Amino acid sequence: MNDILPDEAERWEAFETIVRDWLRGYGYRPIRMPLLEHTPLFKRAIGEVTDIVEKEMYSFEDALNGENLTLRPEGTASCVRAVTEHNLLYDSPRKLWYMGPMFRHERPQKGRYRQFHQVGVEALGYAGPDIDAELIIMCQRLWDDLGLMGIKLEINSLGSPEERLKHRAELIAYFEAHRDQLDEDAKRRLHSNPLRILDTKNPAMQALVEAAPKLSDFLGEASLAHFNAIQDTLRAANIAFRINPRLVRGLDYYNLTVFEWVTDQLGAQGTVCAGGRYDGLIAQLGGKPAPAAGFAMGIERLMALWDTQEADALVERVEAYVVHSGTGAQAAAFALAERLRDGGFATLMHCGGGSFKSQMKRADASGAMVALILGEEEVAAGEVTFKPLRGGEQMRISADDVGEHLAAMLLGGYGDDEDDALQKTDFQ
Ligand code: ATP
Ligand code: MG
Repeated sequence: MNDILPDEAERWEAFETIVRDWLRGYGYRPIRMPLLEHTPLFKRAIGEVTDIVEKEMYSFEDALNGENLTLRPEGTASCVRAVTEHNLLYDSPRKLWYMGPMFRHERPQKGRYRQFHQVGVEALGYAGPDIDAELIIMCQRLWDDLGLMGIKLEINSLGSPEERLKHRAELIAYFEAHRDQLDEDAKRRLHSNPLRILDTKNPAMQALVEAAPKLSDFLGEASLAHFNAIQDTLRAANIAFRINPRLVRGLDYYNLTVFEWVTDQLGAQGTVCAGGRYDGLIAQLGGKPAPAAGFAMGIERLMALWDTQEADALVERVEAYVVHSGTGAQAAAFALAERLRDGGFATLMHCGGGSFKSQMKRADASGAMVALILGEEEVAAGEVTFKPLRGGEQMRISADDVGEHLAAMLLGGYGDDEDDALQKTDFQ
């Protein structure tokens, strides 16, 4: 579980701003769910025989009332619970998104943490395949917005529950015939969740899994039509993809479409986004049956890909630093700083005293564009010494004109005659 320190947290904020704009562009609306849910919610939604439920959940008994609670390992189950509880699908479908921490007790390594963060996107009440394709297309737009290259799309179809059942029988027969090659996990899952064996990360089992009966051979007409329609839309949108028959996803609730976006730039943890269709989940969690699809992306992995220079360029830091010394200067400094904030300028007022020199050092280190200096002389004259910190001439100006000078400087037009604008916002 990581602390995200200020340099990094500012980059996260820049990322989050891009993400919010992107989601609004597709008509998605925010929803915020609690971090804790009743444990049975996740067991029912994600599936008992999955990595998450078997070994990754932070679950505990509430000491006050004995309830079994779990820190959310993912967002879809909570989102569906909230939508059902508040009857949000009563008159129309919903496009919802959320962003925040998820918790899984994993073996920590690069790109894999115990508290990590996801952007989750859920389209509820849509049967697809148009929405499935749009979910994928919108991911590509985010990669473009962030300037991320080389993230590749893999898709698959898991068919209907009936089709999966037929495949399952053959899969069990196949793995039983090769029982000697199964690891412990696989043996345990052979009869409870054989599909999950295909998701194994054990290198020793790759050849076996590669040759296993393929679900695609069991898909019926309707499933194939759904899958083909998505592929047609992706082709028309110029989005390259690879069909990966082994892509089954680590959660039980998916049907038909599943997809992952993968990069080879992050080592072993290369999946930055994963999702699919989950038509049965809403009813399974007690809601009125409705189709749905969605995805979640791992923010840590995306941040690792996002160029820090690009991110830094978007970080907005403090604009003015107010330095003050002498009688009456502090009160004038407080007043000036508040007036600048009224005008929309991010302003740091020096606190904690110290010599003029040490205050100027702080001003420089703050990243501010300008130091505004208030000494006894300036205060008596109703003026401020305006000292640009990144190049430019120092000058004494009327305290009333500070906003105007600052705005002109921030817009790069410093030195031009701009008389009538006093607020940063007037210049934008
Ligand atoms: P994996 O097979 O790598 O364990 P998963 O199938 O468990 O992945 P999902 O539940 O689909 O992952 O989560 C969606 C995305 O969230 C992943 O593609 C990844 O980017 C991110 N993610 C999942 N678990 C972690 C983690 N422990 N640390 C960081 N990011 C994670
Ligand atoms: Mg996992």
